[in-house]
Amino acid sequence: MIVKPRFRGFICTTAHPAGCAAHVRDQIDYIRSLPKIDGPKRVLVVGSSTGYGLASRIAYAFGSETIGIFFEKPGTPTRTGTAGFYNNRAFEEAAREAGLPAYSINGDAFSHDVKRQAIELIHRRFEGGQVDMVIYSLASPRRKDPDSDAVYASVIQPIGEEYHSRTVDFHTGEVRDVSIPAAAPEEIESTVKVMGGEDWELWIQALKDADALAPGVQTLAYSYIGPSLTHAVYKDGTIGRAKEDLERAARAIETALSSLGGHAWVSVNKAVVTQSSSAIPVVPLYMALLFDIMAQKGLQEDCIQQMRRMSETLLESPVPVDAENRLRLDDWEMRPDVQAEVLRRWEGITTENLPERGDLDAFRRGFFALFGFGREDIAYDAEVETE
Ligand code: NAD
Repeated sequence: MIVKPRFRGFICTTAHPAGCAAHVRDQIDYIRSLPKIDGPKRVLVVGSSTGYGLASRIAYAFGSETIGIFFEKPGTPTRTGTAGFYNNRAFEEAAREAGLPAYSINGDAFSHDVKRQAIELIHRRFEGGQVDMVIYSLASPRRKDPDSDAVYASVIQPIGEEYHSRTVDFHTGEVRDVSIPAAAPEEIESTVKVMGGEDWELWIQALKDADALAPGVQTLAYSYIGPSLTHAVYKDGTIGRAKEDLERAARAIETALSSLGGHAWVSVNKAVVTQSSSAIPVVPLYMALLFDIMAQKGLQEDCIQQMRRMSETLLESPVPVDAENRLRLDDWEMRPDVQAEVLRRWEGITTENLPERGDLDAFRRGFFALFGFGREDIAYDAEVETE
């Protein structure tokens, strides 16, 4: 079929198989243009088909065996699959061509069953039946509790009082006011259930019980803090509560791994365009300003540059962390000169002055690229296999 971008609000409901493959290849080419990292040799990535998880897998794959877990839909002759499905297929093809062992599981990472399947794969396929690195990069709107079958939904809302700010419709470029109501107590709890650390702990416990963790194993989960502009809806909101729980989990896992000499970290990453981040109100407008400022200062990074920096940072001894034991890959985003400039440009932002103050096109290009669109090297008018 001929695949064009189709939108439902801020969600793109189609994905271009060849465009997604090219986007993955760009990330692989970037990593292969750099010296090989002498890092972990057996890596499990939970949430490996898009965004930070995919970039983490690529950052490590060209020097190690990887297993990726994700939840994606394949295409049919008349409907495209999800971008993550095509991304993973392209990644596996590239890995196979390079002779790299790479295995994948498409299923619900929150379930006991997928954890069991992953352990079986590790035992069967990885040298010594163990992993040296577990990256936990899930972003999900809901989670089914594996024991009670209760389904929890995550929301992105402030806590305590309604939040008022500015946002942009990135299709039209219109800047407008936005109000987000405060979350109810049950919504806060549900968000922590979905995006907090409980499932990360369950993964590590299951792997440890099955003797699938190697001595010195490292595990990482990702977080975001961001500027005061977005604190009410992010850091101090429902998702921030979940991220606090992720830090609690990191401390608990660090203790659980002490017998193996292992470590657990939360890495605070930079704001990048992903399917998850573009759904957060206010954030696209912030990113339009941020990307312009960071590019002018030569500091702009995408998922793959961030994850390369992560893999290099973990080789340092001791690993550089902040007072809360977190890696801070958001250091350039949070630089005082960068943030002062964001605030200066944010003041009085309107539809008319946005083009001088920010680079909404950079955000748009990033968003379209997630679904394999907007590339010069793809013939979008040609038929393409979606199945
Ligand atoms: P993303 O939406 O691009 O990726 C989410 C991944 O999770 C996909 O591989 C998807 O298939 C997988 N997934 C979702 N539900 C699943 C399930 N039930 N079972 C198996 N796999 C499932 O998200 P992202 O933005 O890369 O976020 C990953 C992590 O990075 C999150 O913890 C997020 O908070 C964090 N982070 C993101 C940003 C940002 O700006 N995007 C910044 C800092 C930190």
